[in-house]
Amino acid sequence: MTVSGDGSGTRPTEPAEPTLDARIDSWLRSLSRMRSENSGRKKKPTKITRVLAYWPAEQWDAMAARWPRLVPEYGDQHDTHRRMVEVMLRRHAENADAALGVASMSVEGLAEFARARDLDPAVSETRAAYAAELGRAGTTVTAWPPALREKCWCGSGATYRECCAARG
Ligand SMILES: [Zn+2]
Repeated sequence: MTVSGDGSGTRPTEPAEPTLDARIDSWLRSLSRMRSENSGRKKKPTKITRVLAYWPAEQWDAMAARWPRLVPEYGDQHDTHRRMVEVMLRRHAENADAALGVASMSVEGLAEFARARDLDPAVSETRAAYAAELGRAGTTVTAWPPALREKCWCGSGATYRECCAARG
């Protein structure tokens, strides 16, 4: 799949862009609902106040094997998913005064989170709640954006400048 970097290359024959936007908007809405449900709890302003959920590359295949119907929701391929997350983070940065972060999910972590609460991991609200829980715990959360010379948030090992800052 060809990924256009600047968003100007949308072709009428390729419906991927509006679909992606629709998914992003729906995801943002559910995250926003989660936030308002949690707004009773005060946090320090320096803390990350909004996290987006991310499947690291090493979790992708296991996620796809366990919950195949989630794969299209995350963009079919890991690289598309990575790009979607970077795009959403940039939109958040434009529209909201929040300290942003990326919550790296794991298959086992999501399964356990859902099992403990009798929730369906395949429902997007469950995954948003899991990401929010990771955000509170802070253990697998990376602040976004990293400095350009720091390691990229996506886990590629490259600097942010060489990785998602350039490829997003
Ligand atoms: Zn990256």
